[in-house]
Amino acid sequence: MRQRLTVDAYTEGILAGDRIILSRAITLIESRLKNDRQIAGKVLKNILPATGRSLRIGITGVPGVGKSTFIEVFGKHLTSLNKKITVLTIDPSSKKSGGSILADKTRMENLAHDPLAYIRPSAAGLSLGGVARNTREAMLLCEAAGYEIIVIETVGVGQSETLVRGMTDFFLLLMLAGAGDELQGIKKGIMEMADAVAINKADGKNKTAARQAVDEYRNALHLFPKSDSGFTTRVITCSALEGTGIPELWELIEDYEKLTAHNGFFKRNRQSQNLEWMHDYIRQTLEDQFYENPTMKKSVKVIEKSVSEGKELPIAAAQKLLNAFLKTKN
Ligand code: GDP
Repeated sequence: MRQRLTVDAYTEGILAGDRIILSRAITLIESRLKNDRQIAGKVLKNILPATGRSLRIGITGVPGVGKSTFIEVFGKHLTSLNKKITVLTIDPSSKKSGGSILADKTRMENLAHDPLAYIRPSAAGLSLGGVARNTREAMLLCEAAGYEIIVIETVGVGQSETLVRGMTDFFLLLMLAGAGDELQGIKKGIMEMADAVAINKADGKNKTAARQAVDEYRNALHLFPKSDSGFTTRVITCSALEGTGIPELWELIEDYEKLTAHNGFFKRNRQSQNLEWMHDYIRQTLEDQFYENPTMKKSVKVIEKSVSEGKELPIAAAQKLLNAFLKTKN
């Protein structure tokens, strides 16, 4: 294993925008080793004053909708405007399958080589809570390294959208025309979370269908309650392949940023996200302490067996384990 750097070396490297040190710092915050966590905590504390100034954008859509193609073109558009962009990916599929939907190495190769862009997939094999903690902390490190726009990408197949919505300022849903809501696995809840819906692949023969889809989604969105942000969800078409609709989408996001800065929503939203962050952190830390405790590891195994054999009720078993855990703390 690579040697750890000192807290100062991480801090200075990150603040200087050194991508190699940034990568190493993200690996550090992903570590669950006690020593690593301690250094990570100090680094995070040091860089805190340089965080929070980026625009955080969440992007979701089912596999195949064109997320990586889109983010690459979107990212290139932003770097052409001289903006520094980070892409963090949350991929819940990587936990179960070992492989993953998003971690394909050839994704976004162009953007990956752009000196103004930094791409980082999430660590595999973690619970969604663990992924959330890592992503939030990685986001802070990237902000401190001077990245002005943080894109958090996730596959629209589970709870991860809600998670990403809860840590970003703007949420974009990518969809396809003609695939039907059910086919795309998009639940009403996800549409409700979106600040913009972009119908991708609006090119060639798909163009007409994409325009029709815009009308349909606009009608559907009328039925939703107005968003707290004061921004009316927009539906647009784009083609990641041809690059159309991308500058317009960026303008739309800038409109959103201006409006919500003006009406105070941007700040309020960040404040409530910070509270959520704190509570998530407490929950996650308690959970880790419980399941990583050597005594508990053994007891959990034994009690799991008796619960699955019907010898003990789940609630009584949980209470017994929790009491045993609290005793290890005294
Ligand atoms: P992801 O799974 O959502 O990340 O989707 P990808 O970006 O990997 O794209 C899936 C497929 O759709 C690839 O073959 C892309 O070339 C294609 N694709 C992506 N965007 C567009 C687009 O705007 N138009 C067309 N025609 N194809 C696209």
